[in-house]
Amino acid sequence: MRPLLLLDFDGPLNPHRADGIPPGYERHEITEGAKTWRLLLNQQHGVQLNALANTFDLVWASSWEHGANRLLGPLLGLPELPTITWPDRRPVRKGSWKTPYIAEWVGDRPFVWVDDEADETEFTGDHQLVYPVDARIGLTATDFAAIQSWADDKSFVDKGSRTDT
Ligand SMILES: [Mg+2]
Repeated sequence: MRPLLLLDFDGPLNPHRADGIPPGYERHEITEGAKTWRLLLNQQHGVQLNALANTFDLVWASSWEHGANRLLGPLLGLPELPTITWPDRRPVRKGSWKTPYIAEWVGDRPFVWVDDEADETEFTGDHQLVYPVDARIGLTATDFAAIQSWADDKSFVDKGSRTDT
């Protein structure tokens, strides 16, 4: 079974708490309707994520929901990805508000969840990895290598495309 890579956007791919513009990033301003957002994007992220897609099935797990495919993915050269949505955000007693939705969405599939607001202890199964990212820094080359080596250590077989559903 191919593992999932669940991607938060703000924080890991848009280090919105950075001081200024960190090396490798560019400021982008995107507009839709009356809304405008200012983002920091790193083109290397697109390259690295497309490389991880040889091992993982990439999934948006961002409060941008479908806006991630519409507005953000194309800026990084990412294809359209499955998207977790968060209807009627449920209150949680502890941890991230995303946790119950993620638990439901992933079922028994192995996954890495990359997020700046998740706590490592939210999922502790052998085939589950919560990967916290600092929103001042965003994902780094070291992080991408660590995510790949997690999958390598678990010996997930690359089937190229999923045929088991
Ligand atoms: Mg975030």
